[in-house]
Amino acid sequence: MFWSISLLALAPAVLACPDHTRSSRSLVSRATGAKDWNYTDPSSWGSIKPEYAICSSGTMQSPIDLPANNFSNTHAPTFKYSATVAGELTNWGYGPSFALNETNGKDYSGNPSFTADGTTYYLIAWHTHTPSEHEISGTSYPAELHLVHGTSSGTVAGVIGIPLTASSISSPFFEQFLGSVPSTTSESHVELDEVYMGLALCEAGNLESYWTYKGSLTTPACTEGLRWWVSGTPMGLSKRQMSKLKGVSGFSSRGVQKIIAQALSV
Ligand SMILES: [Zn+2]
Repeated sequence: MFWSISLLALAPAVLACPDHTRSSRSLVSRATGAKDWNYTDPSSWGSIKPEYAICSSGTMQSPIDLPANNFSNTHAPTFKYSATVAGELTNWGYGPSFALNETNGKDYSGNPSFTADGTTYYLIAWHTHTPSEHEISGTSYPAELHLVHGTSSGTVAGVIGIPLTASSISSPFFEQFLGSVPSTTSESHVELDEVYMGLALCEAGNLESYWTYKGSLTTPACTEGLRWWVSGTPMGLSKRQMSKLKGVSGFSSRGVQKIIAQALSV
């Protein structure tokens, strides 16, 4: 039931999103580091090394299961997402990953941002997980987009999670880069000069419905102290786009964490 309601709600949002031309791109470099963890047994991350201990001992770990239709009404985000961004597209080993360029040294204050409770969060990077990490009343989605935000100097402070689902309409946001994503084993970096982030926001219904809670990074070191906003409106990808995304992705969902201190809306 929830699925069909979500899909119906999604269609008008996509149609109303502004048009935008595709990004220009060029292959520029390579090299990413090997990880000392994987998705074979996420419950063991905490014992890999002391720096990852909080993955097991933390009380505000992410992702979590969220209650269908019981949305938050505090910490409402106000977006300023109209600028196009430039950066590097890579594959983090499990799907597309994009790091926004910095300006004037490590300064992200010119990037798309949102403000909640008087704090401004600047977009630093985004990536996807397959399947979704957050669940909605026990149901996962095919994938999830994470828009990672931080302080103007790049300390991660807030993440927007957007569930991705199959739709009869294609996603103009994903269409900007989906044909350029390196494979899971590639270390290529593809430079994208113009990615319009406003599309992602628009295709998620501008986050007019959301859940918010205090949680953690969902990969080691599972750092706590950041706030999540998960969109109540999923973003729709066409069948072709979803299969393309899955073709450059690997299983990358940590699994929902025990609720200890991650109270909704608090
Ligand atoms: Zn993530």
